[in-house]
Amino acid sequence: MGVCCPVIRTRDRLLLNLPCLSDPVGRSSLFLKLALVALHLVFIGFLLVCDAQFIEKTRLHPWYMSSYFFFFSATLVQYFVTSGSSPGYVIDAMRDVDETNAIMYRNAPTTSFEGIQHASRKTGSVVITVEGESASGGRRTPSSWQKMVMDLYPPGTSLRNLTCGYCHVEQPPRAKHCHDCDRCVLQFDHHCVWLGTCVGQKNHSKFWWYICEESALSIWTLIMYIDFLTNVAKPWWKNAIIILLLVVLVISLIFVLLLLLFHSYLILTNQSTYELVRRKRIPYMRNMPERVHPFSRGIKRNLYNVCCGNDTLDSLPTAYELEDRSRSYTCLDMLKCRCC
Ligand SMILES: [Zn+2]
Ligand SMILES: [Zn+2]
Repeated sequence: MGVCCPVIRTRDRLLLNLPCLSDPVGRSSLFLKLALVALHLVFIGFLLVCDAQFIEKTRLHPWYMSSYFFFFSATLVQYFVTSGSSPGYVIDAMRDVDETNAIMYRNAPTTSFEGIQHASRKTGSVVITVEGESASGGRRTPSSWQKMVMDLYPPGTSLRNLTCGYCHVEQPPRAKHCHDCDRCVLQFDHHCVWLGTCVGQKNHSKFWWYICEESALSIWTLIMYIDFLTNVAKPWWKNAIIILLLVVLVISLIFVLLLLLFHSYLILTNQSTYELVRRKRIPYMRNMPERVHPFSRGIKRNLYNVCCGNDTLDSLPTAYELEDRSRSYTCLDMLKCRCC
């Protein structure tokens, strides 16, 4: 009992300082992050400890080795930046839109009724958006966010069908609820357990850069290990450890290279992993011909949107544009590369 009390007190203090440890998802996420960092340190640490020529090499080729250490640190920094970044939560976008409209409403010169004139984003027509209770009858009318989301769906779509059953926000097309984050994510790609967060609209480019850096770092480390294995005489047990680490490294490298290729394809065609995998189950994707990527604006524009963070709700096609893209291919479409 006397031993348990200090242990319990230490645990309580730890949970108070690190609230992420109180839930199992937070604990497993922290464990995976530590495991990933430890794996990187094991690979570099083994060379530092076992390769007597490694220190010599840093003296002979300071630029080569310092570049490697710089790249190693940059990859880990990119990992933590991506892990700590927001994927773009619907609730945040909704708050921004409603706050912007509330400011516009406060600054609006007209006071004839409790509303503001809000330009519909696609059609250019002017619609009346009323915040909170309407002047007549006191019936609650759609908020700015609801109006904006409704504009993105075909007329007659029920607001109830667009509302997330878990966090009760209206989902624009491409958004999905993540059960690990317990929030709806804009342009949901997948929930990455290694990062402990979702990959979505706001951090897809950061994720791509991270796997790109991780691939390059793995190739560089592989070259150094092969060099150590073939050029330095050493006891059998060191050779055995190197071969074991090489196997882990090659498997990891194959995985990250395939991931890099897959996400490069997704970015170039403006798709998400979720849309690609669940194409037949998603209402707005179901009727699209197999090779049509409905959100693609051409390779150059897709790249620009992802790199410059320009892929916003405004860049989503309207329901009419989506309907147009779902029609069957003609010979002219083939020539125009409509699929990409
Ligand atoms: Zn949700
Ligand atoms: Zn998530």
